[in-house]
Amino acid sequence: MIRCINLIAIALFIVMTIIFIKFKPVCIVSANGEKLGYINNKKDFETKVNELIYNNKSENIVSIDSVTVDYEFAFVSKDKQINENEIIAKIQDQTEITYKYYAVTINNKQKSIVNTLSEAEELATEIKENYNDVTSNVEINEVYTQNEDEYKTVNLQVAEKEISTELEKIKSSSVNGIYLAQKPITGVITSRYGSRESIRTHAHTGLDIAAPYGTKIKAAADGTVIWSGYKGSYGNLVIVDCGKNVEIYYGHCSKLYVESGQKVKAGDVIAAVGSTGNSTGNHLHFEIRVNGSSVNPQKYIYNN
Ligand SMILES: [Zn+2]
Repeated sequence: MIRCINLIAIALFIVMTIIFIKFKPVCIVSANGEKLGYINNKKDFETKVNELIYNNKSENIVSIDSVTVDYEFAFVSKDKQINENEIIAKIQDQTEITYKYYAVTINNKQKSIVNTLSEAEELATEIKENYNDVTSNVEINEVYTQNEDEYKTVNLQVAEKEISTELEKIKSSSVNGIYLAQKPITGVITSRYGSRESIRTHAHTGLDIAAPYGTKIKAAADGTVIWSGYKGSYGNLVIVDCGKNVEIYYGHCSKLYVESGQKVKAGDVIAAVGSTGNSTGNHLHFEIRVNGSSVNPQKYIYNN
């Protein structure tokens, strides 16, 4: 009897030894029914997953569509790799997290994205107070994404700095609230506003910029063309009505590419440099009128 028990014990020992030489105990992890791999310790693993995914306390998370994770204990061949990090990455991939941010939009262009509504509101209020003359609408929009990297959010201070830098530039380049976003041509200034030269019967009403014949002239600001044709000493002339009682004249052109009634955007090519009308060389006569009176363009553009 004792011999028999001994034999059983020995046999059992041999079997166990073989099992532990060839196999190891693991925990098999599955997510939504799909087997993802092997881990050593379920408790440690669950802690890591929770920290990484479910306990993410980001105030921007609006929902987490989590996956169902199942565990199964088994003995597997020792050459099977433990791939805990890979499994966590897969679970993260399958977990759909929706984030919400707040985008501050100025004049229909998205400017800064911040994390909280209160930051967005503070920013919008400051913009409205300080830049009322160059901002027609300031809005706060909620933006949602499932890709955390889609939007680069900034804190309030950074957003304020970014926006005010841009709006200061717009403010200093705006005539009566019309932003001169584009230099019509680059060239040498040959006659300034107000100058009196022998060729003129009165003080210069615009700014002359010399450039080669045919150089493309771009609209300085958005508006509607109200004149495109020959007009006395201006020669071939384009006049753009920019709104807010601001009109911009582009004179002495060789060619006109727009028609009266056409809407143009800052940067659109509207004409080409020439020397038509009262002109002694190829140049653009650039004139800005506010309420019908010319103003010095260099207060807003071509001043640096
Ligand atoms: Zn001129």
